[in-house]
Amino acid sequence: MLNTLRRIINEVNDARDLDQALEIIVSQVREAMSADVCSVYLKDEILQQHVLMATDGLDYASIGIVRLNFDQGLVSLVASRAEPINVDNAQDHPQFHYFPEAREDEFFGFLGVPIIHQRNVLGVIVVQQTRKKRFDEEQENFLITIAAQLAGAMAHAEVSGEIERLLNQHEATEVRPFDGLPGAPGVAIGTAVAIYPSSELEKVPDRFVEDLDKEIEAFHAAISSVKQDITKLSNRLKDVLPAEERALFDAYLLMLDSHSLRGVTATRIMDGNWAPGALRRTVDEHIEAFAEMDDPYMRERAEDLRELARRILHYLVQDAQREITYPESTVLVGDEITAAQLAEVPREKLTGVVSAKGSRTSHVAILARALGVPAVMGSASLPLGKIDGQFVIADGYSGSVYISPPKQIREEYERLAKEEEVLTAELVNLRDDPSVTEDGQLIPLNVNTGLLADITPSLNSGADGIGLYRTEFPFMVRQNFPGEEEQYRIYRQALLAFAPRPVTLRTLDVGGDKALPYFPIVEDNPFLGWRGIRITLDHPELFMVQVRAMIRAAVGIDNLYILLPMISQMSELRESLALIERAYEELKEEDGEVSKPKVGVMIEVPSAVYQAHRFAELVDFLSIGTNDLTQYLLAVDRNNAQVASLYDALHPAVLQAVHDTVRAAHDMGKTVSVCGEMAGDPAAVVLLVAMGIDSLSMSASSLNRVKWVIRNLSTERARQYLDEAMNMEDAASIRDFLHKKLEKAGMGGLVRAGR
Ligand code: PEP
Ligand code: MG
Repeated sequence: MLNTLRRIINEVNDARDLDQALEIIVSQVREAMSADVCSVYLKDEILQQHVLMATDGLDYASIGIVRLNFDQGLVSLVASRAEPINVDNAQDHPQFHYFPEAREDEFFGFLGVPIIHQRNVLGVIVVQQTRKKRFDEEQENFLITIAAQLAGAMAHAEVSGEIERLLNQHEATEVRPFDGLPGAPGVAIGTAVAIYPSSELEKVPDRFVEDLDKEIEAFHAAISSVKQDITKLSNRLKDVLPAEERALFDAYLLMLDSHSLRGVTATRIMDGNWAPGALRRTVDEHIEAFAEMDDPYMRERAEDLRELARRILHYLVQDAQREITYPESTVLVGDEITAAQLAEVPREKLTGVVSAKGSRTSHVAILARALGVPAVMGSASLPLGKIDGQFVIADGYSGSVYISPPKQIREEYERLAKEEEVLTAELVNLRDDPSVTEDGQLIPLNVNTGLLADITPSLNSGADGIGLYRTEFPFMVRQNFPGEEEQYRIYRQALLAFAPRPVTLRTLDVGGDKALPYFPIVEDNPFLGWRGIRITLDHPELFMVQVRAMIRAAVGIDNLYILLPMISQMSELRESLALIERAYEELKEEDGEVSKPKVGVMIEVPSAVYQAHRFAELVDFLSIGTNDLTQYLLAVDRNNAQVASLYDALHPAVLQAVHDTVRAAHDMGKTVSVCGEMAGDPAAVVLLVAMGIDSLSMSASSLNRVKWVIRNLSTERARQYLDEAMNMEDAASIRDFLHKKLEKAGMGGLVRAGR
């Protein structure tokens, strides 16, 4: 059954359009379940009806004609209850609705299952049989599984307007965007450049190319390279493998030259697709055929083919990357964009970022904000294979993405983008103004940096210092751990550039979603695993080298603050402090000139909130990492788009935790800042000011936005808003409330597109 299920899903995913996908579903499911009828009904929201969209078994002519009002028929009952209905005689059921057009008279056994995507019923899939008999449990489970799998594909069709077009048999009246999550503020208008992991053939997009001869040449060259590799491999194994085993390599060589691989792909290229896209389509087609054979030996052949294709792709990608030309306004689109891929696009051409995975606090979104580039994250239903080269609009405030939208939407967004430019220009004027509330409360604004090698944007932002320097980046872009001298140079540069302003260097915080290529960590739950301080305390040699480099870098300027990430226990804090003390003593002995750094601890796990008093007693300052604190407090993965709607630092529990931490620090006479993304969120800043936060640290591009809020706020008003917010039930109400306040104060442009 599992193979059948996979085969159906693959075929559906490859369907040309929704129409074809539905036909595949009904015929394959009917066959697999030995049913007499299989039909799919879709919800028509406008007419409030369920419409028969595809059937194998009922009268074909009734497609589009059979329409059930939302309170009519068993289909509607399945949809409204959002659960399966399995009966031996549908015609006996009080809610049965007879349609003569469908010729349903001869069918009795009925099983209907809702197709649900993210709590939303999109339609119903139904099987029927002539026997007066319920479908058995195995059949019911099969249909439920199919429906759950199909929901994703259907949701995609719904978003792209295909369902609407199909229901109304004309162009969709309303243009609906692809929904994602706000990643970095701003509006990006430009050309999509789809990127993909170079090792994953399945994710290669289609791409229209003009120079077909060159593409064909690259394809044949790649095949030749793979053939050479295989011949070499075969020769090398001559003495080890018997001749029969080596015959496999000959089979590979034949496959590579076969018409079905080489010829068919070449034809696809001549039709205009680039070589990797053409190759993916050819391989998909074959794999499907192999999979259908239900024969384990043949399925092995499918694996061989995939392996060969991967090797061809490897050469093609090497070739393509050399030549990639980014259009003037590049909107980088991908399944999961990495910091390195982002850095590859020339800054002046990078207009926006759209990622199918991740959320606002993913490190790519943080990087986009640091660059001041609008970003949409978690746009899971994007047609990644078909988006390359298309005109797109990405709204980093709402998370909406439009692909080739009609003129009116385009014009509206162009207008909003112009307003954005005006707003940005106005905000730049705030650069040298102090960050002070209407009633004179000074709240220094620092920058988060480090994920970029270049600190110039931070320097130009008018920041009061660096509130969080993520030291991971220099570790990520090397082949091995950087030594003390190398780290010293990097830190010295940052400390000197900002002196006499404070610079907070955080000790290495890898693990979680930040991996080092030369230090792989494989865990089931990386965010609950070996991460941050846990790694560096287990490797004191790494910690000592880093801390020594930091202390030396501050000689003569004394603006160093060291910040410890992921502390969850007192013992970790004590050990870290002891190591820092040791590094300091060592250096003092070596050249005497060094000064003792100020040390702070990040409050980013729930246990730290409850121990904030104790932590504060031992250190000079606290810094709240709301990105992780939100993730751990709400048990919501900060990178998982599927649950991203649950992730919001304005959740009352997070607000309470932040407020408690601020109080704890102040009780102990210590300062406290926020360095998570919350600090750059204009709505949240209102509440942080009310709580009495001492400073905020954010990406350079958020700085003037936040300054604008602070300069237009009095502590008294902020406190009133905090009181009201803390009486609300959830993050959505609090956010809505604060956005309204900002809008009323003339600062709506900070939380939506336009001025
Ligand atoms: C945080 O967790 O809020 C934080 C600032 O650190 P990072 O985003 O690097 O995990
Ligand atoms: Mg963190």
